[in-house]
Amino acid sequence: MKKVIIIGSGAGGATVAKELQGKFQVTLLEAGGFFKPFGISLPFLEHLRSANIFPTEKMIQLVFPPYRISKTKDHMTLVNAAGIGGTTTVACGNALRADAGLKKIDIELDREFSELHHEIPISADHKHLWRDTTRRLYEICAAEGLMPFPIPKAGHYRKCRNCGHCTLGCSYGVKWDASIFVSQAVKKGAVVIDHCAVKKITIKNNRATGVLTNRGLLTGDLVIVAAGGFNTPVILENSGIKTDKTLFVDPVLCVAVKYTDALQNKEISMPFAVQMDGYIISPYFDQLSFFFNKKWKIPGKDILSLLIKLADTEKGTPKNKILTEKDRQKLDQGVNQCKKIFSKLGVDPDDAFLGTLSAGHPGGMLPLTPDEAVSFHNPRLPENVYVADASLFPSSLGNPPMLTIMALAKRISSIILMKH
Ligand SMILES: Cc1cc2nc3c(=O)[nH]c(=O)nc-3n(C[C@H](O)[C@H](O)[C@H](O)COP(=O)(O)OP(=O)(O)OC[C@H]3O[C@@H](n4cnc5c(N)ncnc54)[C@H](O)[C@@H]3O)c2cc1C
Ligand code: SF4
Repeated sequence: MKKVIIIGSGAGGATVAKELQGKFQVTLLEAGGFFKPFGISLPFLEHLRSANIFPTEKMIQLVFPPYRISKTKDHMTLVNAAGIGGTTTVACGNALRADAGLKKIDIELDREFSELHHEIPISADHKHLWRDTTRRLYEICAAEGLMPFPIPKAGHYRKCRNCGHCTLGCSYGVKWDASIFVSQAVKKGAVVIDHCAVKKITIKNNRATGVLTNRGLLTGDLVIVAAGGFNTPVILENSGIKTDKTLFVDPVLCVAVKYTDALQNKEISMPFAVQMDGYIISPYFDQLSFFFNKKWKIPGKDILSLLIKLADTEKGTPKNKILTEKDRQKLDQGVNQCKKIFSKLGVDPDDAFLGTLSAGHPGGMLPLTPDEAVSFHNPRLPENVYVADASLFPSSLGNPPMLTIMALAKRISSIILMKH
């Protein structure tokens, strides 16, 4: 059986591993370890927060190792996770189809989305979990003609405890994440090597021969890179394959107010959304701002926050990502819209305070073009190397990407099965 090496076990890598194992012998390499949800009591940490012991977001890695945090030059906090299941382990569970950009270049993934809906429990039936304030915000958005909709979630939300820890991992097995696809691949015989970081692909006569890792050299007949939008470009560049300076990250900015007993800190993350022009708005208790932003020094239960998630300009690299003037203007529009929603709730918009600008949906540095709409293979890649993550998106989504990444990864798996 031919040997496939897959780099990264997140949304993209786990999907390809599940699809290919059995027809190929899969070895899945993951830089992180096995994922464990955050284990320290949040009320205890909230208590410590007032003692100012959390000066920078990077400290979160000390208490929660899966998180990977870095800062851009204009102080945006970049977030992703390392470990089996990748960043999906700390996701809010949102499972939305966001393929408008792919459709523009004639990529149609209906079959793949339909398969995913059979393989993953996805439902928007979670209104029973919403706090009163969230219901009120939903009514306000509806009355304003903003057409709010409950976000479809991946998991068994009937069992949800509304603990509000979604972005720190789910201790109750409610939220679906990509480690489930990894387990399915392992049951069929895939081999997973954790704490195995790939440095580069080894290439001879324009064919990959294997990968160089911190554990030595591994050989394979095919290499699939799915290390996420920040890391896939690094591996490709280290291997002599040029990527584009077209990184998008979907920046997130929260607008918050003090609202006694909002209890958003004990509620599923992002229960509903409003789709605006170029961004979404959604209720979101931002743990990063709560622990590390000095303006958020009020009890968690009394913070009410709306997130703006922006489809940013595809420009830059992880090292030099800077938001453009247009991106800043869109964020300002979003802030004003959130303040308007709060004012309808009876809160003085002048009392609103902002969260920390962060971003965790990276991609776009090896974008698919109309020429690759059938092959899904950039000509810069050796014939036996594929990319299977958000690096392939031709444009930013401004929306949760994991379902669309998995649909892409499914298509790539079908192409590989036909061609190799
Ligand atoms: C806090 C947060 C909440 C989110 N919530 C949602 C949500 O609700 N819904 C949604 O759709 N999206 C959400 N996202 C985004 C989503 O999780 C990611 O976009 C998605 O998981 C990306 O999939 P991926 O396969 O490209 O990369 P990842 O899931 O990031 O997986 C990449 C994997 O590759 C590994 N890796 C990296 N470098 C190497 C290397 N050199 N060698 C070996 N392995 C390597 C990493 O450790 C990682 O495990 C959220 C993101 C964050 C940060
Ligand atoms: S709110 Fe529900 S889904 Fe989120 S971590 Fe808690 S139990 Fe899991």
